[in-house]
Formats: sequence, structure tokens, C-alpha cells
Amino acid sequence: MSIQPYLDTYLTRHGGSLDTSSDRELMYALTAAVRDLQKPMGHAQGKRKLYYFSAEFLVGRLLRANLINLGLLEDVEALLAAHGRSLAQIEDQEPEPSLGNGGLGRLAACFLDSIASLGINGDGVGLNYHYGLFRQRLDTGRQTEMPDPWIAPESWLLDTGVSYPVKFGSFSLNARLYDLEIPGYENGICNRLHLFDVEQPAPPPKDGIQFDKTDISHHLTSFLYPDDSDETGRLLRLYQQYFMVSAGAQLILQELEERGHALEELDKYAVVHINDTHPSMVIPELIRLLTERGVELERAMDLVERTCAYTNHTILAEALEKWPASYLEQVTPQLLPFIRALDERARKRSDAPKLAIWDAHDVIHMAHMDIHSSAKVNGVAELHTEILKNTELHSFYVLYPEKFNNKTNGITFRRWLMGCNPALSDLITQAIGPEWKRDAGKLEGLMDYMEDSALREQLLSVKGENKTKLARWLKGRGTEITPDSILDIQIKRLHQYKRQQMNALYAIWKYLQIKEGRTPTRPVTMVFGAKAAPAYTLAKDTIHLLLCLSRLIDQDPQVSPWLKLVMVENYNVSSAELLVPACDVSEQISLASKEASGTGNMKLMANGAVTLGTLDGANVEISRLVGEENIYIFGRSADEVIDLYQNSAYRSSDYWQKPEVERLVDFIISPQLLTMGDAQSLSRLYKDFISKDYFMALLDLEDYIAVKERCLTDYEDRDAWSRRMLVNIARSGFFSSDRTIAEYDQDIWHLK
Ligand SMILES: *Cc1c(COP(=O)(O)O)cnc(C)c1O
Repeated sequence: MSIQPYLDTYLTRHGGSLDTSSDRELMYALTAAVRDLQKPMGHAQGKRKLYYFSAEFLVGRLLRANLINLGLLEDVEALLAAHGRSLAQIEDQEPEPSLGNGGLGRLAACFLDSIASLGINGDGVGLNYHYGLFRQRLDTGRQTEMPDPWIAPESWLLDTGVSYPVKFGSFSLNARLYDLEIPGYENGICNRLHLFDVEQPAPPPKDGIQFDKTDISHHLTSFLYPDDSDETGRLLRLYQQYFMVSAGAQLILQELEERGHALEELDKYAVVHINDTHPSMVIPELIRLLTERGVELERAMDLVERTCAYTNHTILAEALEKWPASYLEQVTPQLLPFIRALDERARKRSDAPKLAIWDAHDVIHMAHMDIHSSAKVNGVAELHTEILKNTELHSFYVLYPEKFNNKTNGITFRRWLMGCNPALSDLITQAIGPEWKRDAGKLEGLMDYMEDSALREQLLSVKGENKTKLARWLKGRGTEITPDSILDIQIKRLHQYKRQQMNALYAIWKYLQIKEGRTPTRPVTMVFGAKAAPAYTLAKDTIHLLLCLSRLIDQDPQVSPWLKLVMVENYNVSSAELLVPACDVSEQISLASKEASGTGNMKLMANGAVTLGTLDGANVEISRLVGEENIYIFGRSADEVIDLYQNSAYRSSDYWQKPEVERLVDFIISPQLLTMGDAQSLSRLYKDFISKDYFMALLDLEDYIAVKERCLTDYEDRDAWSRRMLVNIARSGFFSSDRTIAEYDQDIWHLK
């Protein structure tokens, strides 16, 4: 397979060439050439087909990822180099698709890559958002939100020309189907991500991300998770969800029919995976469509239960979706009889009110509907699944023990090692050969090189190169960092349970230490990347605090040679691909029991970062794999935290009263910091710390500071540190999404 003829055809047609075209023109040319190459490739085959429904797919830029999977990356780089061009520069012109926002969406994207790469018969189903969650700006000292458009005439989207009618309470819309092609890794297979869109999408709003949320027909696919702080926003989210699942369900039944199967055989030929609760209405919608086409109701409910599987991603109460029946009455009244029937059926299995789908207050519980009406329910890391079984969903577990199972998350090493860290990939291949690229478990072979000091030296120098590369990129955005400093990185959505606030208090502690003359051996660069939900005030206040601290440190000549705090604007997959390979210390400091799994922890580990974290989510499994000498663990256990919540026993003021803690918290409203920013925002944060601190940032603060200091000191023993790096890379193979997907298939989907 060669890309050259396709590229030449495109360039000739557009009057360009590899020498004369701009980087942007070459990006379009390569996009078109890859698309043409993928066109004749075949879809994975199999008796059953998987439909993976998700509100988001954070796919990242696709040019490099697709070239890797087509086996063309080296050829294309060589071809471009022969003309003095670089793929890195060209791909910088590629907009990142605004189809997702965080870990859940990134997981769905890694899964599609693995499904195609394992040759599994499965497609994704989602929505074609035009402006994403938002593009984050930080130039005013706080977060402001702008639309994040990505669709251009020459994008990866294929217009299928197909559409499905979707009927709402008082009007109807056509759902037009666009596809993104998902090539497997060097296996000639190309699966699809189906993205539904309205027929007349609105142009980007002029006033930030404010728009008329009642203009459903034009704005349904404008934004991911539109502001739900008022009722029109909440209704819009429901319109989005129903639009996605109704069109998706029609597509499933159409494909079933086209393959010549009867509706009664749905469960034999289709699997519907529900990624978190956003697509839950696919359950009553499939039942509705089946009964409309003549299947008897009880039969339809049984069929759909055998067809569906549900993944739970969170135990945060606020994130478990429930909708007033009156909302559904407005958006999709035709579903209510079927949800009522599902509720009655569930009540025959258990009459416990807390297991109801439709409760006494006329509220519909989406997760309950998913559990009652799916064949399998899974959590996303061992600890998370145990918490679901023993605490959060215990009554459901007692009712349906056979449904519950764990599927520890994973990442695709094709993007998160081969794609983003070619220097490390080459080093690994030199040592253990290329087999790890097909089977990340083979990375274990690196353990044999523990006494190879030359290899470990090279590991350190590759890390150094990646830090220099990141420094160059940051410089282009107006921030200077010392590549020789320790890069301490916390990149993830901004949420109190992830405790960026605790890390900010560490920054204050370090600042004060340096002011008191206790300078570290080596400078430390603290990097944050995080978007806060637009209506999440305390999260935005935390961003403001970080930006104030950054300025304070920069302006202090005594501190700035030793400490730097960088907040990367608009954290997304493309910036993650630069940050992850450069990281020394991976901050995974969530309040134990609250982070379901995390996948950032896995990416950073695979790139030779050492984890500083709590025993939460997949950190537990990371810790077991690398051993306690190769990870820095601190803080209360999940059991202790769960007890604190159950007994309402945590008082943040008890911790604040410790002088060492008080000094750090009070610094937030110190005159020095107040001159850097907004008093209202800082004092709101301060008050929350001392009076509430729901996610217990102060609980583990002292332990965190002590363990982080030990970690930074240990960094100076470069020999020992390089051993830690090597163990982390070698043991990361378990977290390949190929392993995760093989398990889903083995235990849930049964497709191969
Ligand atoms: C991996 C990833 C995440 C998830 O990070 P966590 O640390 O697991 O929360 C979020 N955003 C982006 C852009 C990612 O690549």
C-alpha cells in the first residue's frame, strides 16, 4: 500500500505540490489521501455486531493515528522529509475533533481503536458536535469559554447521505448520519464511528458559548453537555440523548433486517453497549421499535435485556442521571409507557423503592433502568467495581450478582506510546524487538534490562529530549520552563474530587519554604491542564487560584528560579500528547473511592513517569504491578473515606486548625495573593475549604506534602529513578485497551 499516488492526485487537482503547498494544504491533502486509502478497506466480520453508544468520543487528531494503523507512518515521514517537510508541523494544522471532553470520551476512543485492531465486528454510535464542550481561554486570569469548531470542508467526516426520522413530543427532526472511519492496526480492517447530526446546524454563537437553547432543530448538536443549570438546558440534553439513541436504534434494526435476521433474533446478532447513562434511553427505544413492528412487549423487554450491557463510570451522586418524568413527557412521550413497563417488570423482581426505575416522586433513574434491563453491568477498575458491589449498588448486586463484573480500563499504546513518544518507542524496540507493538504485554520483557545501565541512561536522555520538546512548545505559547527541572504534572478535568486544590496548597507550601530560604536541590515545574465545567463555580475558582499562584511565583525573583507553576490553556488530547512523554511525576491524587479508574495515570506510567497518588481507581492496580518502591502512595484508604462519609465524620475545620495547614489555607486570602486576583473568587474558595471541603482536600494534605517531598528528593538519585521508570514502562502493558477489549469480548459481548 502506498499513499503517494493518492497524494499526487489530490495535489495535482489542487495545483499544489509537496514542495510548494502550505502545511495546511498538505494536511488536507494527507487527510484526503488517507480517506481514499481507507475507502476500499473491509469492515470486521462476525455473526454478532457490537454497537458502542457513548455521548462522547474524544478521538484526538486522526492523521498520525490513522497512518500508524495503516502501517504508513514511516513511509510518509520519509516522503515528507525528502521534500524538507515535517509531519509534526503539518499535523499541527489539524483541528482536534470536538467530540468529547475527558476520560470517559477518551476511553471510548481508545476502545474503538482496539475493537478495530482486534478485528472485532463493532462500531461506535454518537453525536456530531460542532463546537465541543468549549475552547478554554485563560488570558484574563480566569477561564472563559469559546466555541471550539473543528469541521472543515476537508475533514475526516464522511457524509453517508443516510438519515433517520426522530420524533419528539411536538416536532420531528431528521438525524443525518456521518461516519468517521476507524482503521485497525495493520490488519486491513476499517470500522466506523457513526455520528448523527441535525440537517441544518447553527453557525457558532457570537457570545462565547451562549445560544438559544430552545432552538433545538439548529442547536441540538452544537455543544457537548450544554449548560444544564436551567430547565431549557436540561431539556436540550434530553433531546440530544434521544436523538442519538433513536437514530442509533433504527440503524441497528435496519442492519439486522439487511443481514436477513428476524427481529426476534436481535440478541443473537447485536450487542448494544451503553457507556455511562447518557445513552440509556436506547433501552426503551429499542423496545418501542420492536413492539411497533409486531414483537410482543414481554418478549421485546427480554430480548433487549439480553442485548444490552452497561458500564458505570462514577459513584458521584451528582453524576447519576435522573430525570423528572415530566421532562420525558415533553421530549419523548412515546417512551413513557415502555419505561413504565420496565419499572413494573423490575418491581416484580424486587419491590424495594430504592431499586425503582420510576420512583414515587415521578423521577426516572437512568442507571437503575440500565441495571435492570442489561445482561451485564461493569465497573472500570477493581476497586471501583468492589465499591459498586459492596456499597453504592449493593442492593442491585444482591439482586443480580451474575450481572456484575469488572473491566479495568485501558489505553491504546498506538497513540499513547508509538504515536506520542517515538523516541521511547524506538528505544524499547531496540531492546526487546517490535512485538510489543502488537502485544503490549510484551513490554514486560524490559524487566530483563534492569541491570543494563546504558539502556537506563538512554531512558533518562529520551525523557530529557521530551522535556526540551515540551519546553519549546510552551515557549511558543509564551511560557518558559527549565527543561532540567522536575516536571510534576496534573492533567485531567478540574473537579474537587481530583483535588487540584490540594496540589495548589502544596504550591503554596513550596513557595513559603523557598521564601524561608529552604530552596530545593533542583527546580520544580508544576504543570496543570484542566477544563472546568462552565457552571462549576468552585472549579473555576480553583483555576483562578492556580493562575494567581503562577503570577505570584513568576513575579518573585527569590522563588521563580526554583518553582514554576504552569496552567496549560485548553487541555485536550493534542496537548496531552506533548505533556505525557515529558512527565516525571504523575499526579493521581484523587480522594480515595472517588476516581473510578483514571486513564491518564496509565498513559503517564507507560511513558516512564512515576505515579504520586492515593490508592484510588486503577492506581491500586498500578501499585500492585510496579511494587511499592516504584510508586509514591499517600493518604487515607477508600474504606476510611467511605466510613467518613457514612458517619458524616469529616470536619474540614479540624484539619484547618492544625497550624501548618491553617497557614497554607489562609494564604489564599493573604494580601499578597489578593493583589494577584479577584477577592470574591479567592474568598469563596477559602470559605469552602474551612467550612465544607466536601472532597476532603485537607484530610490528606500533610501526608501528601511529606510524600511528595520524598519523591522529589528521590529524583536526585538518577540511577534509582531510572529503574523506577523502567519498571513502570515494563509493567504498563496490562493497561492496554486491547487487553480491556479482549475481556469485554470474552465476558460480555461474545463477538469473536
Ligand atoms: C486521558 C485523558 C483524560 C483522562 O484523564 P484522567 O487523569 O484519567 O482523568 C482527560 N482528558 C484528556 C485530553 C485525556 O487524554
